[in-house]
Amino acid sequence: MAKRKFVFGVDLDGTCADFYGGLRPIAAEWLGALMDSLPEHVSWTLPEWGVDKAPGGYEALHKFAVTQRSLFRNLKPMPGAPQVLRALSKLDVRIRIITHRLFIKYFHLTAVQQTVEWLETHDIPYWDLCFMSDKAAVGADLYIEDSPDNVERLRADGHPTIVFSNTTNLHLTGPRADTWAEVEALVVRELAKWQALHGDEGELPGR
Ligand SMILES: [Mg+2]
Repeated sequence: MAKRKFVFGVDLDGTCADFYGGLRPIAAEWLGALMDSLPEHVSWTLPEWGVDKAPGGYEALHKFAVTQRSLFRNLKPMPGAPQVLRALSKLDVRIRIITHRLFIKYFHLTAVQQTVEWLETHDIPYWDLCFMSDKAAVGADLYIEDSPDNVERLRADGHPTIVFSNTTNLHLTGPRADTWAEVEALVVRELAKWQALHGDEGELPGR
């Protein structure tokens, strides 16, 4: 039996990984558009890029990006994300990656393989890797998310959730982090509160 650890539930796309920055050149290629013509400020589902009007819409672009351009393997980490996750792991935070990358049939192998390769290539520590749509179904003491729907759903269910800023979620209230340095400060603060509450609970079965 091990002592229960503080679990930090971490979203990948738009939070740890620069999803929109990585998708933009691929979308330009796929649409036959100049990259500069695709605005950097986007909203959820990318109507600004005209993806919804192209044959197959977003799903077709997504398939092309992952299967033909190894999107999940090639995304750049958000600045500071790997370093902060390593620092938090050293503080005994259990990193639980929770991502909704399996939403298109028949390419799960590719998506999972690229995800694991990416996490290891960037030396991101984690003990749990959850491919889930319903993020609240995976327990965590604190979540970080960029998707407005996910943030609102998690918070409505009473789960403390940090919103990681991007142009899709500026309308949401805090707690909010614009950078991974801010994420680190928020997590350390929550960890201290959690330890004060749970520090003496000792051994818990099965954790
Ligand atoms: Mg996300």
